[in-house]
Amino acid sequence: MKFSDRLGKLAPYPFVEISRIIAEKKAAGVDIVTFGIGDPDIPTPQPIIDKLLEASQDPPNHRYPETDGLPEVRRAIAHWYDQRFGVQLDPDKEVLPLIGAKEGIGHAAFCFLDPGDIALIPDPAYPVYGVGTMFAGAESHIMPLYERNGWLPELDAIPGPVANAAKLMWLNYPNNPTSAVATHEDLAAAVAYCREKDIALLHDAAYSEVGYDGYRATSCMQVDGAKDVSLEFHSLSKTYNMTGWRFGMAVGNADMIRALFQIKANLDSGIPQAIQQMAIEALTGPQDCVDSNVEIYQRRRDRVIKALTTLGLTVDVPRASLYVWARVPEGFTSAELAARLLEETDIVVTPGSSYGQYGEGYIRLSLTTPDEQVEKGCQRLESWKIPAPQGG
Ligand SMILES: *Cc1c(COP(=O)(O)O)cnc(C)c1O
Repeated sequence: MKFSDRLGKLAPYPFVEISRIIAEKKAAGVDIVTFGIGDPDIPTPQPIIDKLLEASQDPPNHRYPETDGLPEVRRAIAHWYDQRFGVQLDPDKEVLPLIGAKEGIGHAAFCFLDPGDIALIPDPAYPVYGVGTMFAGAESHIMPLYERNGWLPELDAIPGPVANAAKLMWLNYPNNPTSAVATHEDLAAAVAYCREKDIALLHDAAYSEVGYDGYRATSCMQVDGAKDVSLEFHSLSKTYNMTGWRFGMAVGNADMIRALFQIKANLDSGIPQAIQQMAIEALTGPQDCVDSNVEIYQRRRDRVIKALTTLGLTVDVPRASLYVWARVPEGFTSAELAARLLEETDIVVTPGSSYGQYGEGYIRLSLTTPDEQVEKGCQRLESWKIPAPQGG
């Protein structure tokens, strides 16, 4: 069989070795604690599930949905944006529901990029930005994110010719994997840069609702002029514990929304309508479930930070996202530390290098693990000693 070149270009799954050890340990009956994937363990709130049960009985919901969703779901998204950010959106022109944000993020590349084009991609980052770019035949120009800059890109460091040629830029705040946040000024600087250089600015705000100690994330759409050049992506996955149901949305510039609609209309057939009904309930119903989730994650965050600090790792306290991003001690790569943690404490963490070369030197711990597992994992961390690095 002759497969495509792009298939061969997909990076080998970074977890191969770790996955092998996990499988072996599980087979041997070992009790693994996983701080790996970011996938809420808390169930979807009952009123949202009730809506699904009801909507599933309605035969019109058994048929093909429209790519751009029910008018009511687009209005619910616009309503939520107004309530949450004070941003006004035209539900028919500036809003597009997605089958999860990931799908929209991947497909967005096809709206802007032709073979040989350049996209500005942060590193470390959620891998889909770079993979979408590669699938479109375009090149990623890496914007390194450094701790010293608060994990924000240095826009001035992008070489002039690259900036002039680039067609899109991805940003993601609150950030996965670093848990960094961006201020209104940070986002305004990116909007100004992209307006000047005529670059499509795509902002992934999947974690906007997971903020700690009262932190409320900013929307890119709150920046004056953002709608001239920008789309923002959201997801119900992390906010309402709905990763399994698949609902996200893109909002912003009407031409960009239409472009994404055109790509999607040719590839998918929309979100099952019963799930759109769940989304309407989530976005327009009472929002206390969001606060109670955040309370749970904040408690876990504090517990994990205490354990990592006891162990001797350096950690910034995250103000948002589902992740703790900890520095790896001298003498280890992030993959080595992750492997030692798994071998010696039966704990799974993600090496920072899985998110790009500039993630090296860090590990990511997800807070989407049940409380008692978090406690068990933290006790193991606290009674572990960081071993001497191998090979001196
Ligand atoms: C989880 C996540 C998403 C995807 O969310 P879905 O709506 O479940 O596809 C998008 N971006 C980032 C950075 C994420 O971590």
